[in-house]
Amino acid sequence: MDVLRTVANFVFGMECLGCGTSSERLDPWLCPACAAELARESCSPKFPNEDAFCLFPMRPLTRRLVHALKYRNIPGLASYMVRRSSAVRHGLVGQELTMLAQPLYFVPVPLHHARYRERGYNQAELLAAALATATDGKVCRWLKRKSFIVSQTKLSKEERELNVAGAFEAARLRKCPERGSVVVVDDVFTTGATTSACLAAFGDDFPIPLKVCTLLYDEPSTAVADFAADIRADWDVFRRKTRD
Ligand SMILES: [Zn+2]
Repeated sequence: MDVLRTVANFVFGMECLGCGTSSERLDPWLCPACAAELARESCSPKFPNEDAFCLFPMRPLTRRLVHALKYRNIPGLASYMVRRSSAVRHGLVGQELTMLAQPLYFVPVPLHHARYRERGYNQAELLAAALATATDGKVCRWLKRKSFIVSQTKLSKEERELNVAGAFEAARLRKCPERGSVVVVDDVFTTGATTSACLAAFGDDFPIPLKVCTLLYDEPSTAVADFAADIRADWDVFRRKTRD
């Protein structure tokens, strides 16, 4: 952990990813107050439908962390958040996962190659790996993207749904598993359009149950307000930095 902390201090100047304040007691990403807040949020997982589990609610803190995971090149945040979520330590999602038919096959939602090259990693794959470690499951890259998809963040809800329907195909498995459960993994569940398209790619006759697990649940109606708050927070951090 000391090496991680040293690297984080060097790269991020010992600023908490949650509140942006300088602290020498980062863990290595959050100050003690934000770490405690994350622990509280882990007690409020969301279940948008009977087949979907979301480890954290979307709050300013969790939104900033997933934003940093995707856009600030901090892949270590994937396992950091999963290890502090209700998927482990007998948390609610952990209990749900234990009740599924075992073993668990965690299938990450694939990124398009162009986006992968730009980012260097697929955050869904990192989340799937962390979930597999926490639950003794396996990571299986059984989904592929069919065509280039325009970045989802620039689209309206309706455009997003059209954009992803039919966007994925399932690998032709030489031998389908006879038991266990597939858990499709993504970073954020908003309307469920992306993960529904993934489940559809497996087809109705896939022999084992199909579930979904995401890091965050974003209430579709509050997504816009949260996004605005997040931009404001980023702007405050930026101003504080440029002032110093
Ligand atoms: Zn903080």
